[in-house]
Amino acid sequence: MAHTLVDIPFEQRHQCWFCGEPSELTFGFPHQYFPVFDCSHPSLSVPSCRECTRLARKAEQHSIWAVATDVKRFLTQTYRDDLAIGINWTKEELANSEFESGNFSGFQKSAWFMYEVAKQRVNFQGWSLSLEGVELDCSYISDHFIFDGVTYPSVEVAIEHFIFSYDFTPWCFKKALSVVGVKQFGKAVTFCRLLVGRTPEQQKVALGYFAEDEKLR
Ligand SMILES: [Zn+2]
Repeated sequence: MAHTLVDIPFEQRHQCWFCGEPSELTFGFPHQYFPVFDCSHPSLSVPSCRECTRLARKAEQHSIWAVATDVKRFLTQTYRDDLAIGINWTKEELANSEFESGNFSGFQKSAWFMYEVAKQRVNFQGWSLSLEGVELDCSYISDHFIFDGVTYPSVEVAIEHFIFSYDFTPWCFKKALSVVGVKQFGKAVTFCRLLVGRTPEQQKVALGYFAEDEKLR
């Protein structure tokens, strides 16, 4: 299948369209890995880094924008531990932690860097796509969710990420979110952090009080 390379702004001529890292390859869509018969745009290719190309091939989607959302979801999963650094530590805490020698010192130095790189890649928004000067109609609207400086491809991905990073009980965190709403995502996070390690019964009781307090607000 012939793919036309999208127009690339001069200042982004070496960037991966998905994550902003140096591009080494191009990713053509639709491709042979997943049959798409109702693609909403002409077949095209975008510059892509090696990792995003591999991830994009796994996406079972019907447009390049939906593929991009999947790539972000896969990146969030791959770099879960690196992204969690920013959740669990601040830069100052890492710098001031009292581990000045040994293996942990190396971890400390590279951890924040890894977090910054992972965050930048997940947050990166590819430029608007055009083919030979003709802008493509982007009818696909991403339902991305931003929390604490990180853009998650969807609120579900953010929920999953926090459950893993903090070891939350999934039903408890989801219930707390349904009580306060996603607009108060941070409040549900703070509440559930207090309950890590508690028994299911204790969590249920705490949720009951939490829900009652919210009703009174
Ligand atoms: Zn990439």
